[in-house]
Amino acid sequence: MTVTNNLLIMGPPGAGKGTQAVILARELSLAHLSTGDILRREITTGSALGQQAKTFMDKGALVPDDVMGPMVVEHLVKASKAGGFILDGYPRTVVQAEHLEKLMGEHRIPVTSVLNVDVPRETVIERLSNRQTCPNPKCQAVFHKINNPPKTANRCDRCETELVVRKDDTQEVVAHRIDVYLKQTAPVLDFYRARSLLQTFDGQGAIEGITQAILAKLQKAAA
Ligand code: AMP
Repeated sequence: MTVTNNLLIMGPPGAGKGTQAVILARELSLAHLSTGDILRREITTGSALGQQAKTFMDKGALVPDDVMGPMVVEHLVKASKAGGFILDGYPRTVVQAEHLEKLMGEHRIPVTSVLNVDVPRETVIERLSNRQTCPNPKCQAVFHKINNPPKTANRCDRCETELVVRKDDTQEVVAHRIDVYLKQTAPVLDFYRARSLLQTFDGQGAIEGITQAILAKLQKAAA
């Protein structure tokens, strides 16, 4: 498929946006940029940025906008030159959305679509309490103990690293992440709705079906 796009993917924690982003990046030959993955890599390498981010991430709070901004600029400009991207996990505040809009304007990189993968709160809690993640910074594959289990229990299918439960996937932190999403990130949806860029998809159901719904909408828009 050759629809070149600069896409944003949004949704509450556990909506499956990371899973969809990986598949869409492959299908559409886009660079996949996940700010959560980038931050977790920074933590693993013990960088100053990682150390700063960790205290916020462990609590389920957002990393401050002034830390996120420069990090995103660096990765995004590179990715857009390489032929388009799907940005997963940014923007998460209206300030970040404004920052991104300014940046994109300066570099003449249009955002073509904002994909909103929506799931209800109960689904978020059910999914995150069954989530296992590969801690290998180069892999970061995600599994669900029941719906998408690894072939060997507790082992990553791709790199065989022992799977872990992310610190911010514990019950208490998940509840806080949902609140943070509702207060700080949900208003970003209105920001893009007002610019006629927002497309909302039902994030419940089979992974494949959701991907097909997204691809069909993107193809229609590109036709
Ligand atoms: P994710 O993997 O997308 O669920 O992100 C995990 C955590 O990384 C979030 O709960 C935040 O602490 C942090 N994070 C990721 N993206 C952002 C962002 N755009 N702004 C602030 N914090 C972020």
